Amino acid sequence: MSVTIKSEHEIELMREAGRILSIVHDEMSKIIRPGISTMDINRRGEEVIRSYGCIPSFLNYNGFPAAICVSVNEEVVHGIPNKKRILHEGDIVSLDAGVIYKGYHSDAARTHPVGVIAEEDQKLIDVTKQSFFEGIKMAKAGNHLFDISKAIQTYAESFGFSVVREMVGHGIGTKLHEEPQVPNFKPIGRGMKLRPGMTLAIEPMINRGKKEIWQLDDDWTCVTRDSQNSAHYENTVLITDGEPELFSYNKDLA
Ligand code: MG
Repeated sequence: MSVTIKSEHEIELMREAGRILSIVHDEMSKIIRPGISTMDINRRGEEVIRSYGCIPSFLNYNGFPAAICVSVNEEVVHGIPNKKRILHEGDIVSLDAGVIYKGYHSDAARTHPVGVIAEEDQKLIDVTKQSFFEGIKMAKAGNHLFDISKAIQTYAESFGFSVVREMVGHGIGTKLHEEPQVPNFKPIGRGMKLRPGMTLAIEPMINRGKKEIWQLDDDWTCVTRDSQNSAHYENTVLITDGEPELFSYNKDLA
């Protein structure tokens, strides 16, 4: 499959998918506190998604059993919500959510503190978010794909953090995962030229310690090998001739 360039009509649908998703994240963030379960977050997220007439992108995707990926502490991504998994003061929790609105996906992730957290974990959360914003400074027509990758990596590593290699961002549209892959580290070469109308889910996954990860026996949850914490930040982005448009981001919401 090749890279798709979205029409104005498609962009309008993806804009609405992203707007709804920003609200989903905001509503989920409001219930985060010590004592709730990761399933509580999933339930709230799915409820908000469906209240807008949307479908959760992740539910049953390759067999994933829930609407929201909820990953705690050393879990990098793809944590499976569980009513027995209780959040504790000092945890950090990464929420990855997707919605389908009239056939179009939006995909976004946030990492939140649970109560009072370690200073270094707050820094990890802040640097991961900012690495996304450093990346999208390069996200405009005429630049190359790996200009984004390099900016994310350079920023995150300047704080002594490391970038996950095994999982990357992606094109998005009528499918959750489309071409191209968007690494958060710079591969050899420059990558494809960015064109107006490309829609990308850009999603740095940043570790406090080493970059290596592995997958748990549940066949989903990815954790850091050194058990140090990890953070995730993602938005669905439209490439234009000028500034990129962030579909799933609202500066006044979580
Ligand atoms: Mg994604």
